[in-house]
Amino acid sequence: MADTPQYPIESGCPDGFQYLHPVMKKNYGNWDYHERPRPGVLRHVAKSGDEIWTVRFGTQRQLGPYEINLLCDIADKYADGYVHFTIRSNMEFCVSDKEKVEPMIAAIEEAGYPIGGTGPSVTMISHTQGWLHCDIPGTDASGVVKALMDELHEDFTNEKMPNRVHITTSCCQINCGGQGDIAINVQHTKPPKINHDLVANACERPSVVARCPVAAIRPAMVNGQPSLEIDEKKCICCGACFPPCPPMQINDAEYSKLAIWVGGKHSNARSKPMFHKLVAAGVPNNPPRWPEAAAIVKTILEAYRKDALDWERTGDWVERIGWPRFFELTELPFTKFHIDNWKGARNSLNASTHIRF
Ligand code: SF4
Ligand code: SF4
Repeated sequence: MADTPQYPIESGCPDGFQYLHPVMKKNYGNWDYHERPRPGVLRHVAKSGDEIWTVRFGTQRQLGPYEINLLCDIADKYADGYVHFTIRSNMEFCVSDKEKVEPMIAAIEEAGYPIGGTGPSVTMISHTQGWLHCDIPGTDASGVVKALMDELHEDFTNEKMPNRVHITTSCCQINCGGQGDIAINVQHTKPPKINHDLVANACERPSVVARCPVAAIRPAMVNGQPSLEIDEKKCICCGACFPPCPPMQINDAEYSKLAIWVGGKHSNARSKPMFHKLVAAGVPNNPPRWPEAAAIVKTILEAYRKDALDWERTGDWVERIGWPRFFELTELPFTKFHIDNWKGARNSLNASTHIRF
């Protein structure tokens, strides 16, 4: 035993304050007002009279060394070397010298990055990490983002929506992501296929059994080896058993689809935070441009833009007009799968707060 107790090494995020632009640091908590002189540009004025301009732009989201060097060179030249990422993965450069704002915008645009994403626009789509550093994706979330943002370029660079639109994507059905005005999530439609030869060596069977939210997995002996079996009538195709047991393969080129959800938000401005609701299921997961998912998102955005009142988020809009009217306006088919019948969820779902590995 060591003589002195060992303390955990804190390795969480560093203090963000050290990375703030000096004008922001100096005026922290003492801002008077702010305005948007044009889409993608914010001007904050402090009580001290100091001003700072922020230029926001979209990126392809997964940045390689070439893009990072290019953007950091622009930041060094025009933005005093300060870079900021927003929660939607927009990049922002801040500058206190008004004369540098227009040349900085020109340099960013010349490098191929659109300025926008502020106010009532479709800001950058946030997505989960997918193939880059996760082991369970069922699709390439960053590819969906790039394809969709190419289609929504006009809605990013202009402020023509009733309120801000947060779109999210996720690359599996169970883990990261969050509530979005529009969310594009993976939807598995078949139970996992088990490779019984690998289960005994690769999986801790009790952990896998405990993972299933509907108790559809049982231990079983197959060909004389310990393995698992699935009650396919119970399985809801969530994919939760795949991370602890990769031989329970659920990703499938044909049967892993996309589902589109509408009306979620985290903020409690003007109305409470809301869960998004399913509006389209079984949408083809069709790389590299995902045209079917893009067409549905554009239809929903167009209906929202035309019908919502100023300041209504998509959830507020649908709450006001009602879901039947939403389906009329968007002409999306309404099926029995859209009906929220989770009355027994508290009893049947594995809803304890214990974390299982
Ligand atoms: S959504 Fe799923 S697959 Fe994608 S990064 Fe998160 S946990 Fe991994
Ligand atoms: S996919 Fe989900 S519901 Fe089906 S067996 Fe695996 S954990 Fe259970």
